[in-house]
Amino acid sequence: MVTADIFEKLKELQDVLVQKYELEAKVEEAPKQLSAQDELLARLKKEYIAKNTNYESVKEKVLALRFDLDQAVKLREDGEKGMENVETHREYEALGKQIAEATDKENEVRKELQKEEKILAELNETLKMNEEMIKAQENELSESKQSLDQQIQEYNAQLSELKTKEDQITPELPQEIIFKFERIIQRNSEGIVSVKNGVCTGCHMILPAQFANTVREGEEILFCPYCSRILFYEDSEEAAEDYFKIDDSFDDVFDDETDEEGYDDDEEREDDYYGSDDDSDLDDESDDDEDSDDDEDSED
Ligand SMILES: [Zn+2]
Repeated sequence: MVTADIFEKLKELQDVLVQKYELEAKVEEAPKQLSAQDELLARLKKEYIAKNTNYESVKEKVLALRFDLDQAVKLREDGEKGMENVETHREYEALGKQIAEATDKENEVRKELQKEEKILAELNETLKMNEEMIKAQENELSESKQSLDQQIQEYNAQLSELKTKEDQITPELPQEIIFKFERIIQRNSEGIVSVKNGVCTGCHMILPAQFANTVREGEEILFCPYCSRILFYEDSEEAAEDYFKIDDSFDDVFDDETDEEGYDDDEEREDDYYGSDDDSDLDDESDDDEDSDDDEDSED
């Protein structure tokens, strides 16, 4: 296949791959949309269990207080009944004491009981509210899950359409190029860019003149030594010659441009590039701000 045709196919493939990777990322991220709702539900359930434990212990307290109250009331009433048949002053005094103590106890327990019953009623209300919140949250979550499943189904339908397109394009391209191209697009979302005025439009680095010329000839598939993108030549109205004045001695750097690791790391490649140069100014620049600026550019 002629290089120009390969470039066209690569651009088509790029459109497909960019959409494919976006969709795949969405499918992967999708379940995370529910994590906030899942967490809320788990928190509500945990709170419910804690409140319910508290409710049960207050309920036991209330039952015990009711028993104590019944006892006190019984003691007082027995005392009062006994008063009707009292015969001696001693009996009268003993009964009087029993009634007074029972009455005190009765008042004390009744007060405590009222307090605890109020707490119990409040807890009961809270529990009911909590139950409703849990139910609502469960419903919401199941609705979200349904719509998410639907969304994922849509994504998958789109993905299978893209797969069909991809399968139409890829048999016409060299396997090795496809492999590299896929990896570049996964990283940069743009795998094929033009060279204008000797500059890679992907990372905006000035390419060595000899290399830029080879790109212009369009005889082979070349990768940008800085950002690893595939390069094709595009005419520019400006005088291109001005940009081709960089020292050709950099050429040896690009000999390894097709090796497996070489295009993986922009930074290393840049350092290598500058490292091979005798000009210490360039070295200094690459160590300073310039370095990070270039990195940002290459992610564009
Ligand atoms: Zn580049």
